[in-house]
Amino acid sequence: MSRVPPPLSPARPAVGFAGADAPERWPRPRSAPRPEALERRVDTLPGVGPAVTKRLARLGLRTVGDLLAHRPRRYEQPAPERRIAELFGDEEAVVEGVVRSASGRRRGRLHVLTAHVADGSGEIRATWFNQPWLEQRLVPGTRVRLRGRQNRFGFAVDSYDLGDASETADFAPVYPASEELAQKQLRGLVAQALRHARDDLDALPAALRVREGLPLRADALLALHQPRSLEEAEAGRRRLSFDELLVLQLALVRRAAERESLVAAALPPPGELAARYRAALPFALTPAQERAIAEIDADLARAVPMQRLLQGDVGSGKTVVALYALLRAVEAGRQGALMAPTEVLAEQHLLTVEGLCAQLDVRVALLTSALPARERTAVRQLAASGDAQLVIGTHALIQRDVEFRDLAVAVVDEQHRFGVEQRSALAEGRAPHVLHMTATPIPRTLALTVYGDLAVSELDAPPASRKPVVTAWVGQERSSEAYERLRRHLREGRQAYVVCPLIEASETTIARAAEDEAERLRRAELAGFRVGCLHGRLRPAQRRELMARFSAGEIDVLVATTVIEVGVDVPNATIMIVQEADRFGLAQLHQLRGRVGRGAEQSYCLLVSRPKEELTDAARERLEAMVQTTDGFELAERDLELRGEGQLLGARQSGLTDLRFTRLRQDRDLLERARRVARALGPDELLEAAVDCLLDTAEHVGES
Ligand code: ADP
Ligand code: MG
Repeated sequence: MSRVPPPLSPARPAVGFAGADAPERWPRPRSAPRPEALERRVDTLPGVGPAVTKRLARLGLRTVGDLLAHRPRRYEQPAPERRIAELFGDEEAVVEGVVRSASGRRRGRLHVLTAHVADGSGEIRATWFNQPWLEQRLVPGTRVRLRGRQNRFGFAVDSYDLGDASETADFAPVYPASEELAQKQLRGLVAQALRHARDDLDALPAALRVREGLPLRADALLALHQPRSLEEAEAGRRRLSFDELLVLQLALVRRAAERESLVAAALPPPGELAARYRAALPFALTPAQERAIAEIDADLARAVPMQRLLQGDVGSGKTVVALYALLRAVEAGRQGALMAPTEVLAEQHLLTVEGLCAQLDVRVALLTSALPARERTAVRQLAASGDAQLVIGTHALIQRDVEFRDLAVAVVDEQHRFGVEQRSALAEGRAPHVLHMTATPIPRTLALTVYGDLAVSELDAPPASRKPVVTAWVGQERSSEAYERLRRHLREGRQAYVVCPLIEASETTIARAAEDEAERLRRAELAGFRVGCLHGRLRPAQRRELMARFSAGEIDVLVATTVIEVGVDVPNATIMIVQEADRFGLAQLHQLRGRVGRGAEQSYCLLVSRPKEELTDAARERLEAMVQTTDGFELAERDLELRGEGQLLGARQSGLTDLRFTRLRQDRDLLERARRVARALGPDELLEAAVDCLLDTAEHVGES
């Protein structure tokens, strides 16, 4: 199929063209899309001056294309059209009539504009607030369409149209607006931008579009902004959502493909060290752990670097699996690295694995920024020579400072996606096998989006010996009961956490607040008990000492900021009080709660909040969710519901914040479809398809 015009040569004179020589550039068909039109700045639109430009910029709207992509938050519901005589009660309605008179006045800071509007059946007193400029436009005789409701002052106008109607129309879009930029103005601007809807390239091949039952992109944009029904709006949104999900999935496909071309060291099957490790564990692995280990073994046997996500709720036993993967490297005579997001966690990991490693004769080194320069150099040398078989440290430190002799397996704990650049920094030429661990359960939809290029192992059930944490939520007025409960545990020889209120301040201020709170508790609620205080300002050595003492039972209560959020593992700690729990996010609360319930004893989490009546709906729902379930996946779904997709874990790194049209929860099917299509298509093919589609358009135009 030749879509490109054949080259013109003297031997084949072109018919229909003025000359034999092709012009330097073919004139572009008049109706071909002009994507550059979308790049134009908003101030190229009529009526947009510097002030409006600035206000738009604050909403993130800089170009015509941005306006097109400004998704309505919702749509105005249909309101019945009423004759004025038929208006009743405070029902929302639309009336149409003619202005008889209008006048405005000031009442304090409020400007009230009143217009008498009649429609033959009767007359209303329509009122507007703080829109003084409108008065001169409401000249007697003007036809108006008003949407609003009756109150004791008259007919309070929500939206209105002078001349041709759109504002009062059913399903008028309601945009995320700002105080300084009215809905009406935004609607007007988007309507102008919509003239360029056809300039937005429709990269979806026609055949694919038809097969997936999706509208044209331009039609989708029109439907999104000016729908005739909610269904139409939704169909439009879903088409736009499909596009962005497809782009995301294509990026993931490409990333996975790139990885397949990398070379890693294939490890021999598990041997003697792996067996000794299993034997050294004081428990049998759970079926979920066995499954994960089998999957990891299969990955390690390949000469392609493993990229696996190990997900499981707090306390599900991920660390045990991760250490297994690391030991597999050691067993093969190579090295392993365990990377944590914070120093506290790195130290905590060391505490966890140190004992086992000593038992297994595996040499571990901890690298933290707190080490004196000389010791750090020493650790680096251990890594370079291979004398350290495992190195534990923060992501930053290991990636920046360490050159391994032969790194075969890297475990990356928590949140950080391990980018390609970082990977190459770890091992020149040869890539290590990487296991990502996350204790923040990700709903499946999100996992496919954020980690779509990773294989996933899931620890879906905790070790059987563990009882779910009992969670209770009490208002501040009953916090003394919470502390009474906590003291009871302490008297029985258990240990406890008290989580300080979340304050938004510098580390130093937070630390001071925590110290003050610990001091207060020592004198009041926790008098007579040994109270330690853990915060991010402690020097690593102090922190380690504190953690060690808490682990050893020399401290009864750890008063802590959120630094205990992850990783801290003291099975004898059976009760936790979270102060001002309403300030914490759901994921954070769940993480915090995971610090208790790690042993066989029944554990408790007491959430203390400001009085329940004072809380926002969202805060109340978060706390209720915590009480209702301990299932991290369910909580993650709830969180997704409460917060929307943009703010979740990994969102920033993954480009998830770029998802403008997608609502992950309800678009799960779209996501799966986009994933399927992306895998079938491959990146290059889609590009070709897009070019084909462009040429197609050009050809059609040429024919007509
Ligand atoms: P995670 O890292 O997923 O939060 P950990 O690996 O730290 O969980 O395990 C939490 C606790 O459960 C630890 O005290 C660990 O020793 C224990 N544990 C892990 N696996 C098992 C198992 N199969 N049976 C009993 N206890 C286990
Ligand atoms: Mg852990």
